[in-house]
Amino acid sequence: MTFMERIYLPAVLKGMAITLSHLFKKKATIQYPEQKRPMSEVFRGLHILKRDDQGAERCTACGLCALACPAEAITMTAAERKPEEKKLYREEKYASVYEINMLRCIFCGLCEEACPKAAIFLQNDVMAPASFEREDFIYGKDRLVEPLKLN
Ligand code: SF4
Ligand code: SF4
Repeated sequence: MTFMERIYLPAVLKGMAITLSHLFKKKATIQYPEQKRPMSEVFRGLHILKRDDQGAERCTACGLCALACPAEAITMTAAERKPEEKKLYREEKYASVYEINMLRCIFCGLCEEACPKAAIFLQNDVMAPASFEREDFIYGKDRLVEPLKLN
């Protein structure tokens, strides 16, 4: 072993050169959540229960999405529409309760495919936010139904 090798100088210089070279490279990390990466066009994120053009809920509580769900993440309760609720629900039957357990969901999109009413979609730009509480991941109609558009 030479004197230089014994004082580790070549190895130290080599290590510093590697560190310095990384200073000028594009960073592999981003400052999340301030910065966000662009989502893929085929990304499947948080669900939304759509309304029709008149603002009525499209879902008829047929249950096909729950049946198609491989994770058994969807539960619902069907109810009959009252005459005065015509503007709220598109058809005679609607979901009085509709819940998705995001801890079970694998975001496969099969519920969207199964829906005959084009009522449920997975958004390609919204993720279920993180939380320490289990109940925060049970999404009910209050968080799933599309907000009313005010003209
Ligand atoms: S995306 Fe897949 S796993 Fe999630 S609720 Fe829909 S069918 Fe179930
Ligand atoms: S979201 Fe679609 S498939 Fe699911 S219960 Fe409603 S209408 Fe049926």
